[in-house]
Amino acid sequence: MSTATACPPLLAPLLIRFDPTTGLSPDRPALQRRLSDLAGVFVDETARQARQAINDDLVYEFHDLGLPERSEEIAFGTSIVRAGQVAGEYFMTKGHFHTILGTAEVYYCLQGEGFLLLEDQAGHWSAQPLRPGSAVYVPGGQAHRSINTGAKTLITFYAFRADAGHDYGTIARNGFRMLCVERDGQPEFIPNPRWGSARGNRD
Ligand code: MN
Repeated sequence: MSTATACPPLLAPLLIRFDPTTGLSPDRPALQRRLSDLAGVFVDETARQARQAINDDLVYEFHDLGLPERSEEIAFGTSIVRAGQVAGEYFMTKGHFHTILGTAEVYYCLQGEGFLLLEDQAGHWSAQPLRPGSAVYVPGGQAHRSINTGAKTLITFYAFRADAGHDYGTIARNGFRMLCVERDGQPEFIPNPRWGSARGNRD
């Protein structure tokens, strides 16, 4: 008599541990992004290259647990951004839109301080402060990037619809509208001189 026909194959329960002070997991490896993986991400590309030549620093890590990319699942993991700067611009993630543009995401800050920089396709932007205990809801349609403005590693836990997909290309071409730089010891958002003029000119 059972007629549960619309249900996809169900997964077994999954327990993944994340160390709240490192963000790392003893159960799954983290993907690493070093200075050499971030060509064009910082506004001063010459400074990034010079620094990479001295030491190819780890900038951030994150988890891809490999859950099936279907709408019934929720992908999750930690993002771990080191403290540092390239020519005054704070260490940050590449940032991305979701391929399914309208899908949202939640970030919960476990450690450190910084911002989640958001920007929609029209260039409307906001910077949501990240502090331990703060959760940020990223609505659909907004590109997002984590920026570490503190002295400690910035650790966030994220969750999103598992089939959302990652569009890194749009940000790689256009950048974010605003840059986060240190001025007089404080983080400040300034216009990105390459935003807009880069649109359509890079591939
Ligand atoms: Mn995302």
